[in-house]
Amino acid sequence: MTEKNTKNKNLVPRPPIVVVMGHIDHGKSTLLDYIRKTATTEKEVGGITQHLSAYEAVCEVAGENRKITFLDTPGHEAFFSIRERGSKVADIALLIISAEDGLKPQTIEALNYIRKENMPYIVVLNKIDKPSANVDKVKQSLAEQEVLVEGWGGTVPVVAISAKKGDGVSDLLEIIALQADVLELVGDVAVKASGFVIESNMNPQQGVSGTLIIKNGTLKKGDYAACEGSFVPIRAIQNFAGVQVETATFSSPIKLLGWSEVPRVGSQFQTFASKQEALLFAEKKELAPEEVTQIENNEGTFFPIVLKADTVSSLEAIVYELQKLSGLKIRVKIVSKGIGQINETDVRSALTSKARLIGFNVETQKNAGSLALRENLSIKMYTLIYDLVDAMKKEVEEATPQETVETILGLAKILRVFSTNKDKQVVGARVENGIIKSGGVVKIFRREAQIGEGKIRELQIQKIKATEINEGQEFGMMIESKIELVPSDTIQSVALVRQ
Ligand code: GDP
Repeated sequence: MTEKNTKNKNLVPRPPIVVVMGHIDHGKSTLLDYIRKTATTEKEVGGITQHLSAYEAVCEVAGENRKITFLDTPGHEAFFSIRERGSKVADIALLIISAEDGLKPQTIEALNYIRKENMPYIVVLNKIDKPSANVDKVKQSLAEQEVLVEGWGGTVPVVAISAKKGDGVSDLLEIIALQADVLELVGDVAVKASGFVIESNMNPQQGVSGTLIIKNGTLKKGDYAACEGSFVPIRAIQNFAGVQVETATFSSPIKLLGWSEVPRVGSQFQTFASKQEALLFAEKKELAPEEVTQIENNEGTFFPIVLKADTVSSLEAIVYELQKLSGLKIRVKIVSKGIGQINETDVRSALTSKARLIGFNVETQKNAGSLALRENLSIKMYTLIYDLVDAMKKEVEEATPQETVETILGLAKILRVFSTNKDKQVVGARVENGIIKSGGVVKIFRREAQIGEGKIRELQIQKIKATEINEGQEFGMMIESKIELVPSDTIQSVALVRQ
């Protein structure tokens, strides 16, 4: 990754990526909020909502507009991973210390990490508006940790602020800009983008998403991004404010959808012009060629649609809405789309691709209608986008492959065996945990090992038929199994749940 200025003439200054670290409640979020609210980005774009865990702020520093990327640290439980990724991903760390509370365990941990990674950092003493704030005392404690800040015989930049009121924040931004200049952070726009995965997610509506921070190069539509174990064809690029962009470059956080696997947070990514190179980088040797084609073509188990509409804008709106119906297990694929009447080609296309044929505010040509009738293909006509999308939503749901997973309902211990008749046995047992259900399949265990299976024919509790027995209860049971049960065997009641 290009960091330092060399002779390459494509190199241009790159905005710094700043991570905010420190003990819980020392004011990390308050500072980031304050910067976000006062940054010129906010003024320019107007009330932007942040969509990613990182954001770009355009800050006015000494009369100049400077871009700074801040890595947000969401939950404190994520502290460790953030810290780890922070140190690798970021150029500069801010060590936030409450001037009221002083050094705390997480402050020391962050400090140790910063030192281990040899990372440039700025000490930020926060909450100076509070009456009990004592900046000198904190500097003293820092000195005891061998952190000698400026003015205390050392070179570590230090700034006292009130994240709540804003005092000192512009000084902080200036110090960040200065540090960035000293570090001579540069990037090359002409090369393919590379950087880190800072967040990843999987949800049924969007599929697999990954938030990346670009450290060098340019990322553009049509390329492929890959990190270890996952890759994605770049179809749409979302910037930190959730806006679609055509390209993105260094220090920008962006989001890409449609990864083959959930990309690992902290892993490095690289973009490529060809799928092959991306795959090689991902080292996904186990990815079958069909899978690659599927991801490429946005297939999978797919729901094909042939669509005709009256206008370009309605066509685009419908395609956009339909694509949102894609889930993890099914992808909506528009096999063909166009403006105008439904013709014979549309019918044939729907037949060969086994697609739904949909018309929106259009008519069907006579010969196309008769062909569809002969081939038993129904043409669905709509006049409202909402109705069309709603109907397709239902169909997509129905077509989504269902998986069954085995769920353990409960465990029971055999106490007595009353009778055995062929493969039907009557036994007494007690539910150790969970529940035991009548009619269900059970697994039989002897000394921890599964020795067979059975089926519960009848359950009784105090000689009264029951459908379900709860934890702690003793019960009688008729079980059908080839295994001859003995006391102290356990049975596990399992159910197959459709997901
Ligand atoms: P984080 O856990 O480090 O993100 O801390 P927060 O930003 O959530 O701040 C913790 C608490 O300290 C909140 O109640 C903030 O309002 C308060 N706080 C943060 N910065 C300041 C400050 O400069 N002055 C005062 N008085 N309170 C602050």
